[in-house]
Amino acid sequence: MSKLNIVLFGPPGAGKGTQSAFLIKRYHLVHLSTGDLLRAEIKAESELGTQAKELMDRGELVADHIVIGMIRNKMEAHLDAKGFIFDGFPRTRAQAEALDAMLDVKEEPITAMLALEVPEEELVKRLLSRGATSGRSDDKDEAVIRNRIGEYMAKTAPLKDYFSAQGKYKAIDGVGSIDEITSRLIQAVG
Ligand code: ADP
Repeated sequence: MSKLNIVLFGPPGAGKGTQSAFLIKRYHLVHLSTGDLLRAEIKAESELGTQAKELMDRGELVADHIVIGMIRNKMEAHLDAKGFIFDGFPRTRAQAEALDAMLDVKEEPITAMLALEVPEEELVKRLLSRGATSGRSDDKDEAVIRNRIGEYMAKTAPLKDYFSAQGKYKAIDGVGSIDEITSRLIQAVG
């Protein structure tokens, strides 16, 4: 059977992490979150982590070659996976092209890009309330949150066209209860 490779797409605060947890369980996928991988580097106080932290704290994107390398390593460590869920990656056109190239080599292309759609004011509200409990410094400051959303609009949102051109883009209404949104995602996977 061919592998299920899902890109879970959407702005910061759209619920990608939360929904990933359900999809991983249901479809037995390996979760690849560049945000989680970067936070692990920060925790380990690696040189990469130190460099990434500065950018993340300002709400800017980390360099493409860094996140692409992280994803490549993780994919190579899970060659027997039933599929992957990409969460927070790709975030730029260069990342999307690198991902396609990596998957083409293995002849296991992206199955679908599921895009969670949430209005900006709802995103800011969700992120500020996450910041009050999660300890994520980039969720505490409204200016940093707005900068992340700005980065998303400028560099990441255009990937909608990239995946649409491949017939893989599926918009999902990201407003509602967690269960409702999970059902919409499962329906979209088909
Ligand atoms: P959120 O979706 O809430 O912004 P993430 O955990 O996905 O949270 O990302 C946190 C931060 O990590 C981003 O603001 C960015 O600085 C960095 N980051 C994560 N993934 C990438 C990526 N694919 N490319 C560049 N930077 C990334």
